[in-house]
Amino acid sequence: MTNDNQNAEELNAIREGVRALCAEFPAEYWRKVDEQKGFPEAFVEALTRAGWLAAMIPAEYGGSGLGLAEASVILEEVNRCGGNSGTVHGQMYNMFTLLRNGSEAQKREYLPKIAAGELRLQSMGVTEPTTGTDTTRIKTTAVKKGDRYVINGQKVWISRIQHSDLMILLARTTPLAEVKKKSEGMSIFLVDLREAIGNGLTVQPIANMVNHETNELFFDNLELPAESLIGEEGKGFRYILDGLNAERTLIAAECIGDGRWFVDKASQYARDRVVFGRPIGQNQGVQFPIAEAHIEIEAADLMRWRACREYDAGLNAGASANMAKYLAAKASWEAANACLQTHGGFGFACEYDVERKFRETRLYQVAPISTNLILSYVAEHQLDLPRSF
Ligand SMILES: Cc1cc2nc3c(=O)[nH]c(=O)nc-3n(C[C@H](O)[C@H](O)[C@H](O)COP(=O)(O)OP(=O)(O)OC[C@H]3O[C@@H](n4cnc5c(N)ncnc54)[C@H](O)[C@@H]3O)c2cc1C
Repeated sequence: MTNDNQNAEELNAIREGVRALCAEFPAEYWRKVDEQKGFPEAFVEALTRAGWLAAMIPAEYGGSGLGLAEASVILEEVNRCGGNSGTVHGQMYNMFTLLRNGSEAQKREYLPKIAAGELRLQSMGVTEPTTGTDTTRIKTTAVKKGDRYVINGQKVWISRIQHSDLMILLARTTPLAEVKKKSEGMSIFLVDLREAIGNGLTVQPIANMVNHETNELFFDNLELPAESLIGEEGKGFRYILDGLNAERTLIAAECIGDGRWFVDKASQYARDRVVFGRPIGQNQGVQFPIAEAHIEIEAADLMRWRACREYDAGLNAGASANMAKYLAAKASWEAANACLQTHGGFGFACEYDVERKFRETRLYQVAPISTNLILSYVAEHQLDLPRSF
């Protein structure tokens, strides 16, 4: 346990609980889902039923009321056990947006059902094909007409739509030309996907390298009741930004779980595989990259705990969360490379699971935020360098 200031006993109990659940979904399960380009329905259902996805929902709304530290351990363990938290993590961080900015009526209506597993809030629609990372230029609009908002536009890479009941959607309510600051004039909405799909919302799945259920969305006069608005009109971008520190810290924990899986797997193989009459791991050329990966994961983990401590204490965790995500995503990718190389040709064989995890962990240098954007955040906000865009 590297986190001295947290309740180590409680965190260990969470680790053991999640590991026990994950043991019911071994490597063969994940391999089959990947091969079939399927969705791990049974795993998601089990994790939800066991209450792990409701970890951060306050007890008054039916969740466990735990902190970011505990939530991060849950996702870390899923990945460390060989699974893929990318199938479920949206529920944890999308919930923040509703919890922090939703009305009491919205929270009472949705959070208990999300906590009980009756509703899934797995999706957040921000990215658009023509604007990419330049989010303030999004072109999807929400125009108020009487007691409804009418949505038109397009989103891309919106994950888990086919396995979610609800989506948080970012759209412009005031044209860019009419706002003082470009971050103003955007709003967030809670979209009931069960009603929206086929009634103004069309979903087009995107085949991709990680078997990540992700989609293009087309909005053509989708009508939403005015009560779908979360918080105040025009402040949606700020609400989305508020949730990012938790999101980045959770993703960092997932990468640490991946990194540890790669190091364990590589070490095991390097001990067992005999070539030239000795275990390959006896060669420094094989053992050093694995040792280096281990060191980098441990270092990233320290930053992850710093982010958790700051966040759970109500402090500004922006720098730590961004740096944790950067370090952990980089460390897990280096560990993935070392693990693949250690396995030689067998690293490419699906039955070793290395190539699957290799693909999965690579995503985290691009999504939900690319490494360059973290570097530019640190340059601007930590080093007081001029904003580059
Ligand atoms: C599998 C997957 C799932 C996703 N799920 C979701 C989701 O659920 N919801 C959602 O809203 N989005 C989602 N995304 C989108 C993801 O957040 C974006 O892909 C990511 O933020 C990068 O945006 P982009 O792809 O438009 O890249 P672009 O903005 O086009 O950037 C391309 C490259 O250029 C670099 N770049 C751009 N501008 C600069 C600059 N000024 N300085 C330096 N470098 C720059 C970027 O770092 C990147 O490497 C997902 C993406 C993937 C691949």
